[in-house]
Amino acid sequence: MPSINTKNNTKSCHIISIVNQKGGVGKTTTTINLATAISSLGKRVLIIDLDAQGNASTGLGILSEQRLISTYDLILANATFDKVVKKTNINNLSIIPATTDLASADIDLKEHTDRTEKLKNILNGVDFLTFEFDYVFIDCPPALNLLTINALAASHSVLIPLQAEFFALEGLAQLFLTIRKIRKTLNSDLKIQGVLITMYDRRNNLSLQIEEDVRNNLNDLVYETVIPRNIKLSEAPSFSLPAIIYDNKCLGAIAYQKLAAEFLEREKNFHLT
Ligand code: ATP
Ligand code: MG
Repeated sequence: MPSINTKNNTKSCHIISIVNQKGGVGKTTTTINLATAISSLGKRVLIIDLDAQGNASTGLGILSEQRLISTYDLILANATFDKVVKKTNINNLSIIPATTDLASADIDLKEHTDRTEKLKNILNGVDFLTFEFDYVFIDCPPALNLLTINALAASHSVLIPLQAEFFALEGLAQLFLTIRKIRKTLNSDLKIQGVLITMYDRRNNLSLQIEEDVRNNLNDLVYETVIPRNIKLSEAPSFSLPAIIYDNKCLGAIAYQKLAAEFLEREKNFHLT
């Protein structure tokens, strides 16, 4: 478990991985919009874009000249934390952007003995008293690869988006198994902040059945908030904006604002160790 949170016992920074090895389930949409909603409530938030697709960086309007130093450089090329953190146009929200370089990170990491703990060791060395982040969200790639293992090793907790579709629970067993293995080896205190149902369609009976199934299986782990399928959520990234800013009255933005409130409510019972 990273010790960064207890430095001098005066400042804590909660590190959360947004993870699901399944592609296209809403990890990046959740990272961007939850981070924005939380930052608008006055919390200082950092997103680490850990996906070579760089969707979180693009969705927040990070230009290519701002990506000359990126997550790859932090993890594999000894770039210092202060050099890789970029301010976004949104108050209280910063990002470590990703480039396609990250696509080779898995292979490059294999050459290092600390291949599974690189990010954890780096974040352990960061003085969060100086950087003053309350939350770090790590947007994970759609794979249980070395980058995702690094994220899980470096995090206090995980948030798992789950698309409301027929195979929603499939793959989750493998993710839970990985989390159990990480707890036994790299990070004994790794917690599950919550499971989030995304792309929910109230008019569709299947969505209702899946929600029931997911809640019966995972009980209190599942957030009460459900993210609806909402066109504005998918449009917003092409305007380089979080949906919360692109159209803060749309159903998707309202849902992510509700999620932020629920997330922060859960935080009251979450004790960083
Ligand atoms: P990947 O695994 O490729 O990183 P992801 O899990 O990060 O994908 P997103 O990129 O957030 O998933 O979402 C996949 C696609 O679905 C994107 O085009 C996104 O705009 C869209 N999308 C996400 N959530 C919703 C939603 N609630 N309603 C409508 N479209 C959505
Ligand atoms: Mg993504």
